[in-house]
Amino acid sequence: MNIFSKPYSRRRFLAGTTSLAALYAAGKFVPLRALAQSLPNDPRIDKQPIVDKGYALVRKIGNGVYATVSDRSKGLQTRSNGGFIVGRDGALLIEGFQTPIGASFQADALRMVSQVPVHAAIDTHWHFDHTLGNSFYIDKGWPVWAHPKAAGYLKEKYTRWHAETLDAFLAPWEKRVTEAKTDSLREHAKSDVEGVRSLYEPNGDYPMALPTHPLDPAKMPMKVDLGGLSVEIENFVGHTDTDLIIRVPDQNIVYMGDLLVNAQYPTNINGYPTSWRATLANIAKFDKDTLFVPGHGQICGMETLAVMRAVFDDIAEQAEKLYKAGVAVEEATERYVVPAKYKDFRQFSWGFCIGRTIEQFYAEWSGKPVHVLNYF
Ligand SMILES: [Zn+2]
Repeated sequence: MNIFSKPYSRRRFLAGTTSLAALYAAGKFVPLRALAQSLPNDPRIDKQPIVDKGYALVRKIGNGVYATVSDRSKGLQTRSNGGFIVGRDGALLIEGFQTPIGASFQADALRMVSQVPVHAAIDTHWHFDHTLGNSFYIDKGWPVWAHPKAAGYLKEKYTRWHAETLDAFLAPWEKRVTEAKTDSLREHAKSDVEGVRSLYEPNGDYPMALPTHPLDPAKMPMKVDLGGLSVEIENFVGHTDTDLIIRVPDQNIVYMGDLLVNAQYPTNINGYPTSWRATLANIAKFDKDTLFVPGHGQICGMETLAVMRAVFDDIAEQAEKLYKAGVAVEEATERYVVPAKYKDFRQFSWGFCIGRTIEQFYAEWSGKPVHVLNYF
């Protein structure tokens, strides 16, 4: 609409300026986070969830395509998002969540809409909040698919962590809080203690069940025909080196795992920021009406992908200025300033979202290994 294309009456002028003012106000004064919490206005999405347990709800977002969206403020049974895809002959479940209760909730939701056999459950990557509920699927006799490295990471890391007490596990992180010389260092270090605690605590609550079927990245995109509904699984590097995305190409719907999060800083515990940014640039070339189920946060579209890329750009730009000014990496990881527009974005913790990302940029730019903190 171009309201200025013809001579206009005063009335039209007023109507035009009012709507422009409203748009301007929306852009300027509604916080990004508030916009990010609202469901996209997309005809594919059913406004009414099929089930809502508080900690997660399940909503239809396409023809045979459902999203499980978690609300961590009401419980951590699922913690991550997920969903399921249902064809004439079979269904795929996405994510093992943080507990078998979460996986069971999702399986029950599937049975509310279909009785077709479960073809497989897929872990988008190896992290605890996407895998620790796998035992529920395995007990049902359903295969659990994942990247070939996922099972090894789960076994090695979580077994080792669980061999330590929580106190011992937190000790080096708490030491950083005690030794912090400024308020800001102390706050950042405290956020890391809380992040590390939230990594440790779910481990050992339920039997760990490893993915049963490794999917070979060399054979991707991998097509799965569910009967009248075709799914493609692709491998990207970014949030981890085990990331899988699940696409429903005919409907432009993509389950992103933690490669995409909504209204949050990217969690970079085990990530590769430069590859991650390249992955997001690739995905930005998907159809402009693509609907995403992010790993955490509300269902979203391309504009949210653009915001996530802008957050990465901002971290990289600030880090580059510090690098060029000769600021040491230990200081640079603490000096990043969260822009006002992202101030309400959740951070898993300072170190895991910002510190390690800056550390990795420094390592790339200097061509030398840089090591500030232990990040598992
Ligand atoms: Zn993750």
